[in-house]
Amino acid sequence: MLDAQQVDEVYRILAREMPGRTRGAKGPKGQPDAFRSCISCMLSAQSFDRNTAKASRALFAQAATPEEMLKLDDRDIAAAIKPCGLYNNKTRSIRRFCEALIGEHGGVVPDTREGLMSLPGIGRKCADIVMSFTFGKDVIAVDTHVHRVCNRIGLTGAKTAEKTAEQLEARSPDWALADGHFWLIQFGKKVCTSRAPKCERCPVARHCEFYGAQLSQGA
Ligand code: SF4
Repeated sequence: MLDAQQVDEVYRILAREMPGRTRGAKGPKGQPDAFRSCISCMLSAQSFDRNTAKASRALFAQAATPEEMLKLDDRDIAAAIKPCGLYNNKTRSIRRFCEALIGEHGGVVPDTREGLMSLPGIGRKCADIVMSFTFGKDVIAVDTHVHRVCNRIGLTGAKTAEKTAEQLEARSPDWALADGHFWLIQFGKKVCTSRAPKCERCPVARHCEFYGAQLSQGA
């Protein structure tokens, strides 16, 4: 893994090269409140953003609070969220989440990671998205792009997104926490793509462990 100085330098380069915080996010990042953000995040599992947005819109048109959600029939929830797939499992998760939210938190979404992760269906990624996008905390949420990029470069050395999130939090400088998610995700979509990373024109190539290993294998 990179040392602290290299980590700092990588973030400085990404901050300069990437657009940073964006508006008009779809899916869980664009929801107006914590309840909808949690539900939308649950819907986003193995779903494209546009399908998550469509399912979220259809569901919240029928119920926008946990109390209203529990009044819906399972078939109505499943029909509304069908565009995002796995709708029977997701329907069960939504119901369990709403029951726990009302039973244990009086219907109010907690604003701590621990509180969020105590709720059914909310893992580290969803908790961090809600913390960052709804509650405005300086947290780098780790999705598949952030996970891939961090471990290729050497910001982290982890096999799962959850471990990456833990290491990233421990190894990132404070000044990079607020916008780090945006730099890393944009970088993962535009430069360090999953199948064909554009290493030849990559601004952090000189620090990248993956690229360094490729070069030494080819040498
Ligand atoms: S050098 Fe290649 S693998 Fe490394 S961060 Fe850049 S694009 Fe990704």
